[in-house]
Amino acid sequence: MFDLKRAPSYPKTQCFDSRLSDFEYSPTEPPIIQSEQELQTDADYLYSVALYRDCSKVLKTICKEYPGNKQARSELTRTIFRLLEQQRGTYNFKSLYAEVATRPTPQLDHATYVGSVEVRDSSGKDRGLFTTSPVKAGDLLVCEKAFSYGYSKYQSGTNIMLREATIKKLTEYPNLIPMFSSVYHGSYEPILAVDGGPFVDQKLVDRVIKLNSFGGSLTSLASHTSKSSGHSSGIWILAASINHSCTANCRRSFIGDMQIIRACRDMPPDTELFWPYTRSLAQDHDYEATQQELQEYGFVCACELCEDAKATGSKTAKRREMLRVELSAAFATGGQRGAFDCGKVDTARVERTLNLLANTYSSTAVEVPRTGMWDPYLALTRMYVVLGRSHEAISSTLKVFEMLGFEIRGAQIPAIGSGMVIVEKWGLVVDYLVECWMILWTAYAALGDLERAEIARNFAIVTYGIVVGEDQTFEETYGSNGRICVLQRMLWSKQ
Ligand SMILES: [Zn+2]
Repeated sequence: MFDLKRAPSYPKTQCFDSRLSDFEYSPTEPPIIQSEQELQTDADYLYSVALYRDCSKVLKTICKEYPGNKQARSELTRTIFRLLEQQRGTYNFKSLYAEVATRPTPQLDHATYVGSVEVRDSSGKDRGLFTTSPVKAGDLLVCEKAFSYGYSKYQSGTNIMLREATIKKLTEYPNLIPMFSSVYHGSYEPILAVDGGPFVDQKLVDRVIKLNSFGGSLTSLASHTSKSSGHSSGIWILAASINHSCTANCRRSFIGDMQIIRACRDMPPDTELFWPYTRSLAQDHDYEATQQELQEYGFVCACELCEDAKATGSKTAKRREMLRVELSAAFATGGQRGAFDCGKVDTARVERTLNLLANTYSSTAVEVPRTGMWDPYLALTRMYVVLGRSHEAISSTLKVFEMLGFEIRGAQIPAIGSGMVIVEKWGLVVDYLVECWMILWTAYAALGDLERAEIARNFAIVTYGIVVGEDQTFEETYGSNGRICVLQRMLWSKQ
């Protein structure tokens, strides 16, 4: 029988490592007759420490012994939903958004799911997160509830809230201090106990927050659709074990205090997961600036982007810079970097400059993604969409994918071979790739190629899932727009 006195003080929120054998029922212990109230107390506690299977057993007993207890029946349903989330990663993401909208501090009542991944020692680093079985691009790897979390409608103040929430939690549940101190905190030597008792080291809290907190929009859907949603920041212990690379193979997104991690390429088992701690992808990769930002983490990034940027001479870097200015001028935006417009565009000049820019690279884009070249191709694509030029829109969209390191077969116009579009290799994933797949979907449809249109639509949904965290809202965000365009045999555009 569950013994509350044996239970360590434990947070009243779900934690990713909830498999505490202390809470298991033992068949050898003699049965004790418990009152309805005692059973309810047990159920509440088991729910609060995320032991949903045990909780459901207690609630089933209440339902059987006390059939008039309607509350226990509804709590049993809720607990079974948590169990499905925890064990299978089955979430009703729309209900998560509904909770976010109604809770003033968006800390949700949902379980943490840990899929085919585990923490292992990583060469040269403390630890890392690895796949344990083959995964496909878009697969859900983790959906983790925050250890601590801060939210504000305004852009500032969330780090102070996060600090307060973290200290409060560690003070209330000191048995969590060892787990918290296992998160990377640089060279700082934390104080974990004073006079034989647990101690909440505020400097450790500050170091962990500085090096491991994630901040951003309340939901990734809001940021994807450019809607304002306030600002949040939090600590996710399992996600904090993921090491840095400028070339990510997984991607994080958020719904309130739930962090969703999906694979953004196909991976075999035993692959270490990486994502970037720094840098935007809408510019040429800057080796010095990247290493500078990573200094406090105590390592030098040697990913293909960094190695390539390091090997690029200053003369080439200057030439690229000059060609980017020329591109901006050709897009008639007054030379502002990274901001291209499809207004008055000199197409021939743009294409010519892009070719000159391409000649400054010695590797192919599949070998080393060209982070300074995908956005002008996207601008060019949008221009072809506005002009209704399907062939050019397809070619230009495929260049966006190529520049980001994708290898896609069977997508060219006219079709060669089976008519199947196959992503041989996934590249760097940016939010705009949903738009790119949407353009391919509707461009193929406009050309009467419905088979490839459907494949492109499916890739749009997978990519949407990767960048937003779920694909259950795809239809509301993009689907109807796309279908109208397909029916009318026209290219998709945001207007
Ligand atoms: Zn790098």
